[in-house]
Amino acid sequence: MSSGPRNENVGKNGQDTPTELGSYFISNYPPFSAWDRDDLSPARDAIESHPSVDTPLGLYLHIPFCRKRCKFCYFRVYTDKNASEVERYVDGLAREVELYSDKPVLQGRPFRFAYFGGGTPSFLSEKQLRSLVEKLRRSVDWDDAEEVTFECEPGTLSQKKLEAIREIGVTRLSLGVENLSDAILEENGRAHRSAEVFRTYAWAKEMGFPQINVDLIAGMVGETDENWRDTVERTLELSPDSLTIYQMELPYNAVYAADLKEGSLRVADWQTKRRWVRQAFEMFESKGYSVSSAYALVKNADTRFVYRDALWRGADMLGTGVASFSHIGGVHYQNLDREDQYLAALDAGELPLGRALSVTKDQRLIRELILQLKLGRIQPDYFSNKFGVSIMERFRDPLDALRESGYAEYDEREVRLTREGLLRVDALLPRFFEPEHRGVRYT
Ligand code: SF4
Repeated sequence: MSSGPRNENVGKNGQDTPTELGSYFISNYPPFSAWDRDDLSPARDAIESHPSVDTPLGLYLHIPFCRKRCKFCYFRVYTDKNASEVERYVDGLAREVELYSDKPVLQGRPFRFAYFGGGTPSFLSEKQLRSLVEKLRRSVDWDDAEEVTFECEPGTLSQKKLEAIREIGVTRLSLGVENLSDAILEENGRAHRSAEVFRTYAWAKEMGFPQINVDLIAGMVGETDENWRDTVERTLELSPDSLTIYQMELPYNAVYAADLKEGSLRVADWQTKRRWVRQAFEMFESKGYSVSSAYALVKNADTRFVYRDALWRGADMLGTGVASFSHIGGVHYQNLDREDQYLAALDAGELPLGRALSVTKDQRLIRELILQLKLGRIQPDYFSNKFGVSIMERFRDPLDALRESGYAEYDEREVRLTREGLLRVDALLPRFFEPEHRGVRYT
C-alpha cells in the first residue's frame, strides 16, 4: 500500500482529522500542477487533428460571474462586473466557439452533451442569455445532444429567465441549493435564501424540465445535526430527479482560509461530514432513490448524468470560457485563467490556451480508473478491452489494501466500494497515482 496522500482524511491510527486547508476533491489526472504553461503544442496539435469520430464529444461553456462570493469558494469568479462587461465576455465566449468551429477536431462530430457551468450561468439576464445562444448558434448547435445541463443559483431566476433556459434546449436544470437554513446560507456568504429555492423549484417543475438536480453541501460553517436533518427532509419533500451532495472543503484561496488558519472557524470534521452524507443517502434510499456515485442519488435508477459518465469514460470535451478545462484526443489543456488575457487572445484572433499536458496511455488508464471508482464500482473487463491491461494485476497492492481496510470488495468481474469506501473515495484515490503525483497539492 502506498504512503498516505496529503489529502487523506483518516489519520494513521484510524482516527479522523479535522477539516484542514486544501482540496480533497479529485476531478482529473494527472494533477493540474503537472500541466505545462510553456509548451502548448500538444493542445494545438490535438485541435488541428481528427480524433476518432467514435469518441463522444461534449461542449462546456463557462460563465464566471456570481452575485456574491461564497466564503468557501476557490473558483476564479467575478462579482463586480457591469452589464457591458458581461456582454463583452459573452461576445468573447461566442467568438471562441466560432474559432473552434472550423477546426479539424470538430468536423463530423456533433456534440453529445453540453454543459453551461460556472460561476453562475443563471447570472446572465434573459436578454444576455438569448443573445449568447443566438451568437453560438451561428457556428455550432447542440441539437443532437443527449443532455444539456444548466447550473443555476436560485436567487437569480425569474419565470421568464427559466422559460428562456428551457427554450435553448436545457434538459437538466441543476439548482445550487447547498442548505435550506437561511442563517447558514448567510454565514457562508451565499447570495440566495431558502424561499427562492422553493419558488424557483415550483416554476421549474411546472415548465417540465426533464431532470431537476439539487446540489447540497454537507458541513457548511454553522451546520448542526438538527439543521442537516431538516435540510435533507425538506429536500426530500421537493422530490428532485437527482441529488448531489458534496462534503465541505476549505481550499487555500477561499475567504474562510484565513479564519481557519487563525483558529477562529468552527467547521465539522471529516467523520461528521461522512456521517451526514451517509444519513442523507439512507433517508433518500428509504424513499426509493438509488446511490449513483459517491456524491449522487437518482429517483429513477435509469436516470443518467451523461456529462459525468462520458467524461469518466474518456470522452472528449471542448471547454470554452476563461480558465476552462478541455480534454481532446488524449491531451488535457486549460484556457488562460485571467479574463483580460482570455479576451485579449480572442481579440487577436487566437485561441486562449493557457497550459497543456499530453497524457500517456497509462495515465489515461489511471484517470478513468480513479474517476469510475467514484461510481462505486468498476469492471476489469472494460479496462482490458480498452487498454489491454488487467487492472487486477496492475493494481493488486492498492486493491488488496482497500479490501483489508474494509473499503472495497472484489471478484474477477467487479470491484465494488463499500459504503465506507464510497464516502471517503477521494482520499483513497491517490494510491492509484504514479509515485511522482502522490501527495502533491491538487490544484
Ligand atoms: S455560486 Fe458557486 S462559483 Fe459562485 S461564488 Fe458561490 S461557490 Fe463560487
